[in-house]
Amino acid sequence: MSTEQITVDDLSELRELIRTSPEASSLREIGLREIVSGPGAIATLPQILLRLGIDASARITVFSDLTPKRYHDADVLDVVLDLVVRSNNKIEHVCIAREKEGAIVLADELTVASAIDAVTRTSPQALVSVGSGTVVDIGKVIANELSLTHVVVQTAASVNGFADDQSVLLISGVKRTTPSRWPDALIVDPDVVAHAPLPMTRSGLGDQLSMFSASADWYLSDAVGFDTSFSPTLVTMMRRDLDQLVKVSSDLGRGDPEAVGVLASCLTRGGIAMGVAGRTAPSSGTEHLISHLLEMHADAFHVPSASHGSQVGVASVVAAIIWQRVRERLLSGDAEVSAENVASRMDVLSAFAHLDPSGALAEECWAAYERKSTWTHLHLDDIRRIVSEWSTNDEKVDGLLKPAAFVTSMLKDARAPVSFSQLDPAPGPEVVQWALTKGHLMRDRFCVMDLAVLIGAWNADDVTAVLSELDKLAS
Ligand SMILES: [Zn+2]
Repeated sequence: MSTEQITVDDLSELRELIRTSPEASSLREIGLREIVSGPGAIATLPQILLRLGIDASARITVFSDLTPKRYHDADVLDVVLDLVVRSNNKIEHVCIAREKEGAIVLADELTVASAIDAVTRTSPQALVSVGSGTVVDIGKVIANELSLTHVVVQTAASVNGFADDQSVLLISGVKRTTPSRWPDALIVDPDVVAHAPLPMTRSGLGDQLSMFSASADWYLSDAVGFDTSFSPTLVTMMRRDLDQLVKVSSDLGRGDPEAVGVLASCLTRGGIAMGVAGRTAPSSGTEHLISHLLEMHADAFHVPSASHGSQVGVASVVAAIIWQRVRERLLSGDAEVSAENVASRMDVLSAFAHLDPSGALAEECWAAYERKSTWTHLHLDDIRRIVSEWSTNDEKVDGLLKPAAFVTSMLKDARAPVSFSQLDPAPGPEVVQWALTKGHLMRDRFCVMDLAVLIGAWNADDVTAVLSELDKLAS
């Protein structure tokens, strides 16, 4: 096999960019040692392990799910197992547990604990995770718990969570970002990721498009003083290949390997940005809140939900519309911050009570929201100042956001869902209404939805108006 097109990126250029940035003191180092990409990259797994100090005598455990994944005429998992066996390593295979045949795999406490147990019993020196979002999120937790060298074989360009040290887990039924561990190496082989089912690639584009509303939310949170970690360097880094991504968006929709490679590399940089920022804020704002609520609702009622990225894509259009409406209101000078609009404990508990009769889920949300509400009550003057001096902030936000029509056209080019009714499966209209209305109550991050609520611009009529604008864009 030709190795000419395989790139081993030791990330020295990005490390230097981060080290020399004005925000360097608040950024963390990239823990990922290398990204190996290009056609045939997967075949270099033995060399990658050797570079990481894992020699042929080491015991290696491969962690995956049961979903077949194609690599030319073979299955990706078989290829990985065969490569490790041929390099004489002792190998074990641990498969993610499912409650029952056909059940959806959730990264909940039970699944994570049983995966850690199963891998512990194999006493490996290194872990190779083969899969997409959930498998890799759990793999990073296992590698962290057992201090294992960890190589990730990414099997789809479906989310941006491969290249960072955080995992999204389900804690008491609530989606929570939990610190885990950077993979040591990431393998992105277009012959693997481009053969993932097309809806997964389209989901990846949806997750990627969160970068506009998320970075504007991150800026807002910094401006009001809630989270002062906003980094222009990381935002610029994440947008480096944006023009190229726009150019290939229609090729993405048919799984063109080069186009999927561009998307995968954008997603990788999004992951690195989150890891370096030490939080998911660079890629997770209002749009992720909406998606998290839709997923939590489906999980609570044991029904399948549409893929994470496909929801985030639609919700990114929604977030762009919300931002536009809030900016217009702020620029009109007709916006007043009212402490009465901050939700109470009863508001939060009743927003989530129907998802969990034990009350644990609602309490988990309140525990997070309480920190934000306490802060808000103490900093009303800071928020009022930002509102009254909005025009200077608006220029900054304008440079971070893209219009809803832009986000829509990229999704349409890739034939990805644009409206909630186009999601597969589609959440009911009342669930969508609930997710939009209550999204800001699930965690302690300040975003445009919080500001909209504070200025009284997020009532039932506003939600209906946003949804009807979304429908117009989608048609
Ligand atoms: Zn995401």
